[in-house]
Formats: sequence, C-alpha cells, structure tokens
Amino acid sequence: MNTQALQATGLVKTYSSVHALAGVDITIGAGELVAIMGPSGSGKSTLLHVLSGILLPDAGEVRLGDAVVTALKDSGRSKLRREQFGFVFQDGQLVPELTARENVALPLLASGASRGRAMRAADEWLMRLGVGEQKRKRPGEMSGGQAQRVAIARSMVANPSIIFADEPTGALDQATGHEVMQVLSTTAKMNGTTLVVVTHDLKVASWTDRLVEIRDGLIHTDRTMADVVNSAANAHQIQHAEVGR
Ligand code: ADP
Repeated sequence: MNTQALQATGLVKTYSSVHALAGVDITIGAGELVAIMGPSGSGKSTLLHVLSGILLPDAGEVRLGDAVVTALKDSGRSKLRREQFGFVFQDGQLVPELTARENVALPLLASGASRGRAMRAADEWLMRLGVGEQKRKRPGEMSGGQAQRVAIARSMVANPSIIFADEPTGALDQATGHEVMQVLSTTAKMNGTTLVVVTHDLKVASWTDRLVEIRDGLIHTDRTMADVVNSAANAHQIQHAEVGR
C-alpha cells in the first residue's frame, strides 16, 4: 500500500438550482482519520462521492498524490476505486447469497487474485475484525453489527490507501454503532489507512482526528478533534459557572 494525500480544490456540484457543493477546498493527509458532519442536505454524501471518484464535479479538481482523479476517464476512475479505495455504507452492501468470507474475498477476486489466496486473506481479515466465527454465514444469518464488521473487512482486504464510509453506523443501535466505529478507526490507524467518514453522530466522529462541518455545500468549520473536545469542555465549564453564579 502506498498511502497518499487526497487534495480537492474548488469543488462545485449543482443539481438544477441546488448547490450541493458550492466551492469546497479540502486536503486530507495520508493516514488521517476525518469525520464529515452537517445537517441533512448540506452536501456530505455529494462530497464523499466526488472525493472517491464516484461522481464528477461540475468544477474543481481532486488529486490523489500526483494523480488527478477528476481528469481520469470512467475506466481509470473505476480502476483507481478498485485498487486504492475501500467503501463502507450504511447497510445492504453485502451480497446476500454469498458467505461472509466470499463477500470479503470479492475485491481480491476482482483484481485477479487466486481463489485460495483471496479466501485466506478474507479469513484473516474476518478474524482481525472479531467475526472469524461468522465466516461461513450469509449476511441474513448475522446481526447488523457483525454484518458491518464483515463489510469493514471487505473494505480493507485489498489494502486500500483510503476508506470512505458513508454513515457506517446509521443502521445500528448506538452501542453497536460505537463498537463498530471503534473497530473501523483502530484498524485504519493500525494499517496507516486514511479514513473519511460521514456521520451525524458526534460520538462516532470522536473516533477520528479531525471534524469537518459542512453547511450549504461549503466547509463551515474544520477543526482537530482535540480542539472540538477542548471547546466542548470549556463550554461545559462556562455553563456550570453561569448556573453557579
Ligand atoms: P447530505 O449527504 O448532507 O444529506 P447530499 O450531498 O445528499 O447531502 O445532498 C446535497 C443537496 O443536493 C441536497 O439539497 C440534495 O437534495 C441535493 N441532491 C443530492 N443528490 C441529488 C441528485 N442526484 N439529484 C438532485 N438533487 C440532489
């Protein structure tokens, strides 16, 4: 794996009269864990899709290291997504007819690995994510939290440089969601994988290093998680001081 910085400049995406992205500049360092938050409709998913080359912007550029992602043809972007990016969605991303290990092996099989090697790598990743016992089960036979761990294993198996996660805990109860986010962030950290996660849950975001808030298609705030935690603690103290007066 060769993790590189992701750099976006001047991203604009408009749907009829709606500016889903109204001029976004963002650089995400190699190995950085970033949360994207903001109200519904603020442009979070659009940003994730443009950064990951799923969607082309109307204006602006996305670079991964020296490669200009937005200048690549569809086939080039598909190849880049397959080789460099992993994806985790809210739910429904696993193939229901396949077992956990077959689901996890898919990205390796798609890039030409032998079945034996793909299955061995799948088993290893399932074990690392604490769902080794589930390897012969199909998604319908697992809990939501287990299925998300399988989905995370699948996003990591081909050793991507960046994982894009769109509300990865959105379909889970809070406790399970936080467990899954803990697993996702610690695994990304351990592997030096960059993680970009869209979430509406500040506790989920708190597993990352940096919080980017989007409003009306623009970056509203961009802070380190340490700053977010400090200012929340200060606000709490001020509130208590005022109450105590
Ligand atoms: P978020 O993920 O923050 O909820 P989105 O990126 O999904 O926001 O959407 C941003 C804005 O763009 C919203 O107003 C949404 O209705 C609009 N939008 C997103 N995708 C489409 C689309 N395919 N067609 C038309 N409008 C869209």
